[in-house]
Amino acid sequence: MININKMIEHNKAYVATHPELSMKGLTSHPTKKLAIVTCMDTRLVGMLEEALGFERGEVIAIKTAGNSVTQPIDNVVQSLLVSTYGMGIEDVLVIGHENCGMIDFSAEQFMESMKAKGISEDAIRMIEPGLIDWMDRFHISEENVKYTVQFLRHHPLFPKGMGFYGGMMDPDTGEFRYIEV
Ligand SMILES: [Zn+2]
Repeated sequence: MININKMIEHNKAYVATHPELSMKGLTSHPTKKLAIVTCMDTRLVGMLEEALGFERGEVIAIKTAGNSVTQPIDNVVQSLLVSTYGMGIEDVLVIGHENCGMIDFSAEQFMESMKAKGISEDAIRMIEPGLIDWMDRFHISEENVKYTVQFLRHHPLFPKGMGFYGGMMDPDTGEFRYIEV
């Protein structure tokens, strides 16, 4: 279990030693006019933005399981629409990674894990249809990135002229590989 007290102690020391943070005049509008859609993977935390040379205030980062869009209007699309019409982004970069936990996971395994934790069959049925479509659509991370970039590029709610790009990051070394889509 997470040690909340220890975290709060650390936070107090952090705030006390970083007075410069609030002096930079940053806003929610990314100065690089870019949104990154990437995976929630632990190994990318604190590394991805730094590895690509982006600093605080420069880009929007949207993190989901498997960096994918699940429906025409889902939370990723909504976040990108807000980024576009509310925060002035002009480009979207979708970044997948090798050894993604999402890609190796099947909907069946997922539902078995839920049953093992005591979730009722009725409750599991709530998630089942969308789950299979989403979890079992891809087993190759790079294909998932290409699909997501194409999906966004052809989405009718984004304005003409927006850039949609894809890439892969090595979660162990931070190496980025651009993918032509
Ligand atoms: Zn992942």
